[in-house]
Amino acid sequence: AEKLLEIRKLSAGFITEKGLVKATDQISLALDKGQTVCLVGESGSGKSVTSLAIMRLIDYAGGVIIEGNINFHGEDLTEKKQEEMRKIRGDRIAMIFQDPMSSLNPVFTIGNQIAESILLHQNKSKEEAWNMAVEMLRLVGIPAPEIRAKQYPHELSGGMCQRVVIAIALACNPELLIADEPTTALDVTVQAQILDLLRKLQAELGMSILMITHDMGVAAEMADRVAVMYAGAIVEEGTVQEIFDHPSHPYTVGLLQSIPGFEGERGGELYTIQGTIPPLGQLPGGCRFHPRCPHATDICRQKEPHEFLVGEDHRASCWLYEDKPVYKETASSSRD
Ligand code: SF4
Ligand code: MG
Repeated sequence: AEKLLEIRKLSAGFITEKGLVKATDQISLALDKGQTVCLVGESGSGKSVTSLAIMRLIDYAGGVIIEGNINFHGEDLTEKKQEEMRKIRGDRIAMIFQDPMSSLNPVFTIGNQIAESILLHQNKSKEEAWNMAVEMLRLVGIPAPEIRAKQYPHELSGGMCQRVVIAIALACNPELLIADEPTTALDVTVQAQILDLLRKLQAELGMSILMITHDMGVAAEMADRVAVMYAGAIVEEGTVQEIFDHPSHPYTVGLLQSIPGFEGERGGELYTIQGTIPPLGQLPGGCRFHPRCPHATDICRQKEPHEFLVGEDHRASCWLYEDKPVYKETASSSRD
């Protein structure tokens, strides 16, 4: 399949009083055209920093890209000027966030806000843009879109507002949609509806989705591939079947056992991984998960694990798989 996005050994971080602190540590991740990859982890694992780095919004958040590449269609986004990134953002890569209200402008009608986005990226007249905005509202499942288009964000529910945000993101037909916890602020029923909508739109429009979530349940529903992030590193990555049928890294196993109804659940009680994620810049030596790991041994405390190939198209950074082959990144297919 054609690679749309290929992140290679990306480290991004922040300049603090204590010096440069890494928030992502040499992460590598690939996303094919039309695919959904879920980046899963607890808050503070570096998921959002990864998305900000891809969009190069990290530059505005006091952060820097320290090393590595972000190849998008074979172009390295880490080398782009902000002026070039502005064209890519919104036009080829769009992003939606957790809180729809913070993405919408309270003083403009929702039709206006979608039309503005269309006018910014496409050569259309105002009337065409308005009509397209109404069509976008219909596409994202908003009833009576002609009437709704004239309303203001506060007149719509949270779920409806997130549909509007999705309409704005899709108005310019992006190749990649980055969705950072897009359903976390919504109640469960609405959450399911928004996930359904994203799946439907993806099938219709053929875009790729990078979904950032703390919720393994969301990953199970949405992902083709899952990357599990812990303390700035991708500790396990593979197809959704591999990750759910053969979870390998003890952290992934812990995340799965904390999902209600998952078979690893013990005696009806939800499992929680003991301890907390280490703060930025305070990684333990050896395996970064060792203080929380029920399987930690001496080597775990001393040496950072390699990435081992634990299944077909499935890698994990854990010494439990020392007898497996070491995972090797293949050469960038986007440059073939
Ligand atoms: Fe646990 Fe050791 Fe594997 Fe780290 S390397 S996850 S400490 S078993
Ligand atoms: Mg986040």
